[in-house]
Amino acid sequence: MNRSIFSRLLTTNLAIFLGFISVLTIVLTLLYSNQMYQQEKKNLQNIATKTETLYLDSSKGKIEALKLQDYIDAMAYVSKSKIFILNITQDSMKELQALEFTNDDLENYLYEDLTDILKGNEVFRNSQYSETFDTRMIFYGRPIVSKGVTKGCIILFTPVSLVNYNLRIMLLIIASISLLSSLLVSIVIYISAKRITRSIESVSNSALQIANGLSIEDLSTTSFSELNELIHSFNYMKTELTRIESDKKDFISMISHEIKTPLTVISGYLEAIHDGVLDPAEVSDSLEIIYKETQRLTLLTKDIVTKTRNQDMDFYLEPSIFKLKPLLEDMSVLAKINVNKDIHIQMICDDSITLYADENKFRQILTNLISNAIKYSNHTVHIQMGCQIIENKLCISLSDDGFGIKRNDLDKIFNTYYRVKNAPTIEGSGLGLSIVKKLVELHNGTIQVHSDYKKGTTVSLYFPM
Ligand code: ADP
Repeated sequence: MNRSIFSRLLTTNLAIFLGFISVLTIVLTLLYSNQMYQQEKKNLQNIATKTETLYLDSSKGKIEALKLQDYIDAMAYVSKSKIFILNITQDSMKELQALEFTNDDLENYLYEDLTDILKGNEVFRNSQYSETFDTRMIFYGRPIVSKGVTKGCIILFTPVSLVNYNLRIMLLIIASISLLSSLLVSIVIYISAKRITRSIESVSNSALQIANGLSIEDLSTTSFSELNELIHSFNYMKTELTRIESDKKDFISMISHEIKTPLTVISGYLEAIHDGVLDPAEVSDSLEIIYKETQRLTLLTKDIVTKTRNQDMDFYLEPSIFKLKPLLEDMSVLAKINVNKDIHIQMICDDSITLYADENKFRQILTNLISNAIKYSNHTVHIQMGCQIIENKLCISLSDDGFGIKRNDLDKIFNTYYRVKNAPTIEGSGLGLSIVKKLVELHNGTIQVHSDYKKGTTVSLYFPM
């Protein structure tokens, strides 16, 4: 049977607590009643000692017989006991009939006890039913000894009900305390059990919400360390899931952004070939470009497959040796495809600059930068591309005379999805520069942007050589 943690915690803890209280009550009652009887025995012993002294004084004539009776009556009244002085000896047990007791009253146990007392022993009975008093009594008896001779005995009876009354009061107090503490313990257990189960429920509800694609807040911690571990792990899992999901989205956005450029080039050249506006030599060059762009698309597709399979959203390099100038020239030709703008590109680059880097990633970097320079400019665009080696560093710069970027936007343009507000009419995703930055850093390079609003922008890339 499946029982909830809450009811199990509540019943188990309550059962343990009540069991403990019951055992404690029994032990306390036994100890207390024993203590009460011992106390009562001491009282009776004291009374018996006093009675014996008075009796012996009276037999010596120091106290009158009537006074002796008064004293004894007074003690009996105060102690709520019955006190008897029996002038008997071992030999005169039969004379008992002559005393206050009748044969019927002289109960069986009393014969035995008197015989025992007259032998010089003390007798104490905790709880003895007495027909004479028709109730349970505590019985105490001891011999009266004078100068080594047993002159008789003193016997005392006290109703058990007196001790029982005290016991009942104590039991009542224990029961009330137990009941009150059970109530308090139940409340405490209820609150703790509720707190534990509430945390577990919130983890399970949140898991369901995540499974249903809802975004949720971090779960707050509790005062239970084990639950906190669960909550920390859950929050960590949630953050990781969110990160993986966002990485996937970024990756898909990046891929679609990067696919757009080669597709634009391919469609531009195909259109020109289809319209027959190119001479045979240009057609051959165009086919070469289309081929290169399809190769880029193939590589991109390979990237997607590898990264999705490895769940690895990071970029990686496939370096080779290549010359920079032909690449820049290629880029300047490609930049003009499918763009209805008047584009002038000037390039200053040393023929000898050779790189060991990922050529395709360099293409990606330059394509993004040139496309931005064209996008964020008026109809006529002047672009200057330069590359030179300064202090063991390769510097590639790209300047345009376009719209420029306001100072307070400059440090945000590398953020993923960030787009400058005053350029909403220009198509874009806010991904280009963030991809460029990642690719530059992957080559251990740095990127800097200088811009004069409404005058133009210069992007500089620095790579260690
Ligand atoms: P996208 O071009 O897709 O919007 P980018 O990350 O490439 O995204 O660029 C971010 C923002 O930086 C752009 O929205 C644009 O406003 C600004 N920007 C980038 N390059 C230039 C440039 N050469 N001239 C002016 N603004 C630019």
